[in-house]
Amino acid sequence: MESASRCTGSNRSSRRYNAGMNQQDDAVRRTGRDPRYDVLFEPVQIGPVRTKNRFYQVPHCTGMGYLRPRMLAAMRGIKAEGGWGVVCTEYNSIHPTSDDLPHVHASLWNDDDIRAHRLMTDAVHAHGALAGAELWHGGARSPNHFTRLVQMDVASLPNLAGNPFQTRAMDRADILEFRRWHRKAAIRARDAGFDIVYVYATHGYLLANFLDPRMNTRSDEYGGSLQNRVRLVRELIEDTKEAVGDRCGVAVRFKADETIGADGQPEFGERREMFAMLAELPDLWDINIADYSLEMGVSRFTGEGALEPYMAWVKSATTKPVVTVGRFTSPDTMVSQIRRGITDLIGAARPSIADPFLPRKIDEGRLEDIRECIGCNVCYSGDTIGVPIRCTQNPTMGEEWRRGWHPERAAPRASQERVLIVGAGPAGLEAARTLGLRGYPVMLAEATRTLGGRVAREATLPGMSEYIRVRDYRVQQLLKMPNVEIFRDSRLTAADVFEVGASHVAIATGADWRRDRFDGKTYVPVATGGAVVLTPDDIMDRRLPPGPVVVFDGDNYYMAGVIAERLRAAGLEVTYVTKADSVSDWAGKTSERWRIRKRLMEIGVEIVTAHALIAHDGETARLACEYTGAERRIAARGAVLVTQRAPRDELYREILDRVGGDAGRLPFSLRRIGDCEAPAIIAAATHAGHRYAVELDATVDSDEPLDHDRPLVG
Ligand code: ADP
Ligand code: SF4
Repeated sequence: MESASRCTGSNRSSRRYNAGMNQQDDAVRRTGRDPRYDVLFEPVQIGPVRTKNRFYQVPHCTGMGYLRPRMLAAMRGIKAEGGWGVVCTEYNSIHPTSDDLPHVHASLWNDDDIRAHRLMTDAVHAHGALAGAELWHGGARSPNHFTRLVQMDVASLPNLAGNPFQTRAMDRADILEFRRWHRKAAIRARDAGFDIVYVYATHGYLLANFLDPRMNTRSDEYGGSLQNRVRLVRELIEDTKEAVGDRCGVAVRFKADETIGADGQPEFGERREMFAMLAELPDLWDINIADYSLEMGVSRFTGEGALEPYMAWVKSATTKPVVTVGRFTSPDTMVSQIRRGITDLIGAARPSIADPFLPRKIDEGRLEDIRECIGCNVCYSGDTIGVPIRCTQNPTMGEEWRRGWHPERAAPRASQERVLIVGAGPAGLEAARTLGLRGYPVMLAEATRTLGGRVAREATLPGMSEYIRVRDYRVQQLLKMPNVEIFRDSRLTAADVFEVGASHVAIATGADWRRDRFDGKTYVPVATGGAVVLTPDDIMDRRLPPGPVVVFDGDNYYMAGVIAERLRAAGLEVTYVTKADSVSDWAGKTSERWRIRKRLMEIGVEIVTAHALIAHDGETARLACEYTGAERRIAARGAVLVTQRAPRDELYREILDRVGGDAGRLPFSLRRIGDCEAPAIIAAATHAGHRYAVELDATVDSDEPLDHDRPLVG
C-alpha cells in the first residue's frame, strides 16, 4: 500500500514534467552537431558490449548507494537520457567485510541488491546507454562501523581512514574467500543487468594495497616480486571474465603513477611494468592517478585536463580502450584528448553531475546551453557527510525522484501571472531561469550594474574565476527568453515593489558579511578603541587593511583562506586564526582542506588554530586558546573577520510592514529566498531559486514536502 502510494507520487511528478517537455523541447534551438565533434559520437567496443558514443560517466559516489535506490536510479537514468553512453554506479561493495558507512556506498551483498540495482540498469538501458558496476573492497580503508566485521588487507595495517583499529593480514584461505565473493558479486551485477563490471585496483583500497611495493610486505606468492603482487588482480580479472565475460565488458580501474609528486610531474615507479603484465587482460582500462586531490581537484588549484601528463604512456601500452577523467566541459578539449591518443572515452563524474545533458547539448549544437561544472566539489560533500548528492550548478541533482525535478525541464506555467524577482545573485538568477523556462512573464531587478551577486564578486578573488559560471550559464539562458526582462541598476524599494504590480514577488537580495563573531551563544564585537575591522565584502570592494593583518575564520569554509591569499598577494603579513583544530575545517568535506592549508603555508601565511580572536584595537589582536582560555597577543594593525553573514532582508520587512506584518493582505505572494532567507553555500541558493520557481503554483504539502526513499515496513 505504502509502496504503491510512493510509486504513484513519483510517477505523478514525472508525468507532470514530461507534460512540459514537448513544448520546451520544441523551443530548443537545434543547429545540429558541429562535424568537428563527430568523433565524440563514435561507438567503442568494450569486450562483448558496445557503447553508443564516447561519453562515459565513471563511477562516482552519490551519498545514496544502497540506502536510496529509487533516488539513485532516477538520477542515473537522467544522465542516460542526457546522452551519456555509459553510466556507472558508485563504489559497490562485494561483501559486508567492506562497509564504509557513514559514507554511503552501493552493495552487491545478496539478491535484494540485484533488485535494487535493476531499478538503475532499467533506467539507464531505457535510453540506450550501458550500465557499469564498480565492484569494491575497501580493505584497510573500510572501517566496517556498520557490519562490525574485522577488516582484511594485504597485511596487518592501521585503518587508513584514521580509525583506531587494524586489519587482519589475509591468509590464503581469506584470499580464496575474497575471490569467491568477488565472483559472486560479478554474477549478481550481471544478473542485475550491468553491461560492464569493474575490478577496482586503485584509490588505496584492498587491491591497490596488494599492488603497492611498500604496503605489500607478504612473503607468500602474493607478495615480494612484482609478478606476485600483481597476482591477485590478475586472478580477479580472469575470474570475472570467466564468470560474466560472455555478457559483460570487464574494466580495471588502475592508477598511472606510483606516488604523489609535484602537480603535473608524475612519478611512475614500476607502474608501466605492472601495467604491461595485465595490459591485454581486461576489456577496458579506467585510469586515474595517485594524488586524489589533483584527480578530484577543486578549480582553485586544478584546471581542466589535469591528468594528461600522467596519461601520456597508457594508450600506447595496450590495444584495449582507455577512459580517463579531467573535469572536461569543453568539447574541443575532449576531441583533442581523443585525437592526440590520450584517451578513447571521455570520462566524467563532475561534468555529468553539473550537466547530465552535456552530451546531448554537444550533439544538438547547443554549446551555449552547457552548464559547466565550477569545480567546487560540493557534490563530494554528499558522500563525506553521508547524505544525498547536491550540486552548486545543477540544483536538480539528487532531487530527480523525491521532488520530480529535471535538469532541463519544468512544468509549463499554470497562469499568465507576472513574477518579480528582486536580486540577481545565484538564487534570483535560478528562480528567473526556471520560471522563464516554465513560460512565466518574469521581471528580474538587480540593484547594481553587474549580474551574479556573490559569485560575480567572489570570482574576482584568487583562484575563484570558475565560480562565475554559475552566473554565466543562467544569464546566457535568460537572454534567450523573451518572457524575462532584466533590469540592472534597479535598487528597488518597497514602494517600487508595490508599484510594479506583479502577482508574485521573490526577494533574493542576499546577505552581508558581519563585523562581529559568534561566540557559541551570541554575536560579540571584536573591534575595540575605535579600531576598524574589515570583512570579505570590503576586500571584494578592493579595500585593504593595514599590515600586519589577522584574518579570523569563523566560517570554516573556503572564504578565509581565499582572503588570506588575496592579502598576502598584496604584500601584507598575514596571520590566519581559527577556533577549529584545522584550517578551513568544513572544506575537508569538499576535499580541498589539505590543499588550502598547503597553499597558505607555501605563501607564508602564519597559521594559528584552536584560538578565537576576541579583540582588535588597531595595533594588536588578542587571541584566546579554545582549550585553556590562555590569552596571547599578536601584532596586527589590520583585521579581517570572516565569520557569519547577516541576511539583507530590509526590503522584505518593509514590504510586510506596509500591511502590518500580515502577508495575507498583500496584493501579491511574497517569499524571500537564498541568502536573504538564510545565508548558506551557493548550492543552497541555486536550490532555493529552483524550488521557488517549481513550487510557485504547485500544491506542496508542508507537512510532507518530499518523497522519502527508505525501506518500507508493512
Ligand atoms: P543569493 O546567494 O541569495 O543569490 P547574493 O548576495 O548572491 O544572494 O545576491 C543578491 C543580489 O541582490 C545582489 O546582486 C544585490 O546587489 C541584489 N540586491 C540587494 N538588494 C537589492 C534591492 N533592493 N533591489 C535589487 N537588487 C538588490
Ligand atoms: Fe561541479 Fe561543484 Fe557541481 Fe560538483 S557541485 S559537479 S564540482 S559544480
